[in-house]
Amino acid sequence: MREEFPIFQHHPQLVYLDSAATAQKPERVLATLDRFYRFDYGTVHRAIYRQSQRATELYSAAREKARSFLNASSLEEILFTRGTTDGLNLIAQSATAAFVRPGDEILVSEMEHHSNFVPWQMAAERSGAKLCTIPMRTDGTLDWEGKITSKTKIIAVAHMSNVTGTIHPIAQIGREAKRMGAFLVVDGAQAAAHLPVDVQALGADFYAFSGHKCYGPTGIGVLFGRKELLSSMSPIQGGGDMIHEVHLCHTTYAEPPLRFEAGTPAIAPALGLAAALEWIEEKSKDRLLVHTEALTSFAADELLRIPGLKIWGNPPKRGPILTFTLEGLHSLDIASWLDTQEIALRSGHLCAQPTLRKWGITSALRASFAAYNREEDVVQLVKALRQVQGILSHL
Ligand SMILES: *Cc1c(COP(=O)(O)O)cnc(C)c1O
Repeated sequence: MREEFPIFQHHPQLVYLDSAATAQKPERVLATLDRFYRFDYGTVHRAIYRQSQRATELYSAAREKARSFLNASSLEEILFTRGTTDGLNLIAQSATAAFVRPGDEILVSEMEHHSNFVPWQMAAERSGAKLCTIPMRTDGTLDWEGKITSKTKIIAVAHMSNVTGTIHPIAQIGREAKRMGAFLVVDGAQAAAHLPVDVQALGADFYAFSGHKCYGPTGIGVLFGRKELLSSMSPIQGGGDMIHEVHLCHTTYAEPPLRFEAGTPAIAPALGLAAALEWIEEKSKDRLLVHTEALTSFAADELLRIPGLKIWGNPPKRGPILTFTLEGLHSLDIASWLDTQEIALRSGHLCAQPTLRKWGITSALRASFAAYNREEDVVQLVKALRQVQGILSHL
């Protein structure tokens, strides 16, 4: 599959192991963006000329692709956002305002990405709700049983952790949330590219993901929200496209999803995202998962043979993410040296400071795998880590 990604034609030596931060783009996505800007470009929803009608059709088709990708029951439940962060902030603001009262509880896991943590901290402060946390066990799983109470109004948790790769038991959490009358918000940023996602089967009330981690463009994401909930939520941005009628004294809003999409949307990125989702479906998520799972377990075995290397978290179900440290060496030094070997991987706090703090570390390295990675990439990484260990430990 590597040949389908032009970046590797331009950087044949590149060992790209940072797909959990952002994934490379297949030719199909690039061609879709180019074709739209070159031949079909126009605005959406506004004008009656053909160019705009054509763009509007393509944009609606992209929304339909996102709907079927998540198995949402209707198009009104699919909002285009700028990405996961944007989607999670939208819910944290609008759903909290609509459903959370002072004294209620918002429950978030302590191993969330900052994007699924800070917005809830802010929302709790604004609404007078109490922010409660689900503890992480040392293996990277969540000690969530019994944590959802009758006071819990919203529970927000990742489908797959960006640090340990843990695949959380979302369907089980969803059933419990429903039983206790809480809304379940799922951060799907890591899962969407790799795991089958059926928002109905998962029992998710909201599900957010980013295009750029699913082989699509930056600046576009999807937020699924259950229709009854979205209909009783207020927009957080006013402007064009989100209105029904504007008067000098008051404005009525459009129905979802447009209510939450003020202004000219990211039209080309939405089409690029649809192309990326099509690409994933054509390759088949199951097949892609077999490939990345095999790479991940091969990498874990090989990495653990390096003396002093520790992989953080050991969950029973793990996506294609491995976070590790090398004893006595700083992650940033290692990552800088790996970069000289054209090996790209993430270092630092991984947007999850509370998680690392719990382990007593401030930074780590993270290797993550996607469709275009090969065993050869793992071999290069391990070889380079052994070299860097030799070099840095003698300085
Ligand atoms: C990347 C990521 C986010 C944020 O996604 P953006 O595209 O940066 O908005 C949120 N949660 C998790 C688990 C992530 O991995």
